[in-house]
Amino acid sequence: MIRHFTHVFSDLDALRADVAHGEMARAAESSRSILVQVYSASGAPAHLLGIAGLLEELLPAATVVGATTVGEIAAGRLLTNQTVIGFSFFESSRLQAIAMPCTRGEESRTGAELGRSIRASADDIAGVLLLATPLSVELGPLFAALEPEIGDFPLFGGGAGDYTRMRNTFVFAGGELLDAGIVAVIFTGTQLALQCEAYLGWIPVSHPMTVTRTDGPLVKEIDGRPAFEIYQRYLGARKDESFYMAALEFPLLIEREGQWVARVPVAAGEDDSLRFLGDIREGEIVHIGYGDAGTIIEHAREIQAASADFAPDAVFMYSCGCRRFLLQEDVERESRPFEAHAPTFGFFTYGEFFGTGRLQLLNSAMVAVGLREGGPRKASRPAAATANGGTRPPPDDPYDSQHTRVISKLLHFIKAVTTELEATNRELEKRSMTDTLTQLANRIRLDESLEAQLNSTIRGGIPFSVILLDIDHFKRVNDTHGHLAGDSVLVAIAQALRTHIRATDRVGRWGGEEFLVICPDTDAAQATLLAERLRQAIERQAIPGVGHSTASLGVAAYRPGDDASGLIARADQALYQAKHAGRNRVEQA
Ligand code: GH3
Ligand code: MG
Ligand code: MG
Repeated sequence: MIRHFTHVFSDLDALRADVAHGEMARAAESSRSILVQVYSASGAPAHLLGIAGLLEELLPAATVVGATTVGEIAAGRLLTNQTVIGFSFFESSRLQAIAMPCTRGEESRTGAELGRSIRASADDIAGVLLLATPLSVELGPLFAALEPEIGDFPLFGGGAGDYTRMRNTFVFAGGELLDAGIVAVIFTGTQLALQCEAYLGWIPVSHPMTVTRTDGPLVKEIDGRPAFEIYQRYLGARKDESFYMAALEFPLLIEREGQWVARVPVAAGEDDSLRFLGDIREGEIVHIGYGDAGTIIEHAREIQAASADFAPDAVFMYSCGCRRFLLQEDVERESRPFEAHAPTFGFFTYGEFFGTGRLQLLNSAMVAVGLREGGPRKASRPAAATANGGTRPPPDDPYDSQHTRVISKLLHFIKAVTTELEATNRELEKRSMTDTLTQLANRIRLDESLEAQLNSTIRGGIPFSVILLDIDHFKRVNDTHGHLAGDSVLVAIAQALRTHIRATDRVGRWGGEEFLVICPDTDAAQATLLAERLRQAIERQAIPGVGHSTASLGVAAYRPGDDASGLIARADQALYQAKHAGRNRVEQA
C-alpha cells in the first residue's frame, strides 16, 4: 500500500514538525521508498533549495522532485500562490530520479539520452513521472527522441508553470535546480499498479482554417495570412506581454487520430508568427477552441468513476493552467471527487505529458494518475490521510456552478450562431454564383473562373480555349411558342452542354441566350472539335413543344498577352462569322 500525505508549506519549522509527526514518521519507517513532490508557486531558488535541503535532512532516503506551477492541487482542492509538498510512502516499489539539463537545440540529443537512461535503469518499470520546463526547452523534438527508447509502461507528468508570466520556471531533483531541463522519476516494482487517464473537453468554436506555413515551433501563416491575425481578429489579442493571457484559454485544436489535440500559443512574434508549446504541422486543419464545461465535467465524471473502481492509494494530477482560468472555482469539480477515494495531489501545468508506450505532449488537458500497491481495496480510506482540505462532496446545487453553466450556454450560443452563419454564407455564395433558370454558373462565376484560368495559364504556360455559344433565332422561339417555351429551350441546352463537356471544362450562362465554355489545357483545334460536338448535340435534341433548336459557336484560344475581354472579343468575332455564314456552325478566331 502507498500512504500519501500532503503538506501545504508555511515555513520550514512547520514542515519539520509535520514530517516528524507520528503518522508520517511511522509511514517512513515501514516504507521501502519515499517520493516527495514539491510544487511551488514561487520560483525563488532560495525558497526551493531551502525546502529541498530540509527534506534531504529529514528524509535522506527520499526521492525529492518538483516544479514551479500555475496553481497547486492539495486534497483535491485548488490552491493558489502556495507551495504544496506531497509525500508518498511506497511499501514495496522502488524509485529512481534522473535530472537532465537541456539547452535549446539539444532537445533531440537530451531526449534520446534520457530514453536510454530510463531503459537501462530497470526491467520492471511500472511507470515514469516526467517534469520539464516547456518554456525554455522545446518538448516536441525531445519527446520524439525519447519515445522510441521507452517500453510499454505509462508516462505522465507536466510542464513547469509560472505565476510571473513565463519568466521563471524550474524543475528540480534533489538539490539540483534546472531552469531548462527535464526530470524523470522511474517507478519499479511488480506490486505497483497505475491507472493513467487524460482528457481535454475543449471543442472547436471557429470555422476550420489551414496552417499554411511553419518554422519549427513557430506557425507563420494560417490560411495564407500572418498567424497572429487570427488571435487579433477573433480575440482582440495584442502583440505584447498580454498576448499569452489573452490566448491561453483559446488554443488551436487539431484533429489527430480521431481526437482533438490542443496547442496553446505562448507568444506572438514581431513578424506576426505565433510560438506554440507543442508541434503543429503544415497543412493541418485548425480551429480556435474553447473549453466546454459540460463536456469537461462529463469526462471528469467518467474518469472519477473508473478511478473509484480502481481504488488507488493516491491520485496525482497534472492539469493545464488554462482549466483554472476557464472553470474558476468550478475547476475543483475535476479534482475534488477523486479525493473521496484517495488523497489527490498535483499542480497546474504548462503542458501535460501522457501516454503508454508512447509519449504525447498535450495542452489544455487534464492528466490523472491513480497509484496502488497490491490489489484493489474497497474500504474507504481514513480521512486523516491528507494533511488539509475537507471532504465536501461534489456540488449538486445548481447555483454552485453558475460560472460553468454560463460558459456552456455562451459556447452553445456561439456554436449555433457560427453554424447558422456558415450555412447562410454557403447558401448565399452558391446563389450569387448560380444562374437561377439553368442552374449553371452565372456571369460573376464565369468572370472569376476566367481570371483564375488566365492566372494559372500565365504561371504554368498551359494553353486554354473558350467557346462562346449563341442560340439561333431564339427570338422566334419566344415569339412563336411564348417566353416560357423559350425558357425551357435555355434549360434543355444548358443540360446538353453540361452532359457533353469534359470534366475539367467549365460552362456557364454568359447572358440572355449565350453560353460560355472554358476549356483548360486545350488548344484551338481541340476546342473546335468540342464545339462541333456541342453543336451536334444541340441540333439532335428535341425539345417538347418547340422541336429542334440550333446554335452558333465561336472558338478562341488563349494567346500570350490576352486579357479576358480580348479573348472573349475574339470568340465573339468568330461567333459573328458563324452567324453570318448561315448559323448552326462553328467558327474559329
Ligand atoms: P440570332 O440567331 O442572330 O442570335 O437571333 P436571335 O433571335 O437568337 O437573337 P436576338 O439577340 O435578336 O434575340 C435574343 C432573344 O433572346 C431576345 C430575348 O428576348 C431572348 N432572351 C434572352 N434571355 C431570355 C430568357 O431568359 N428567357 C427567354 N425566354 N428568352 C430570353
Ligand atoms: Mg444573342
Ligand atoms: Mg441568338
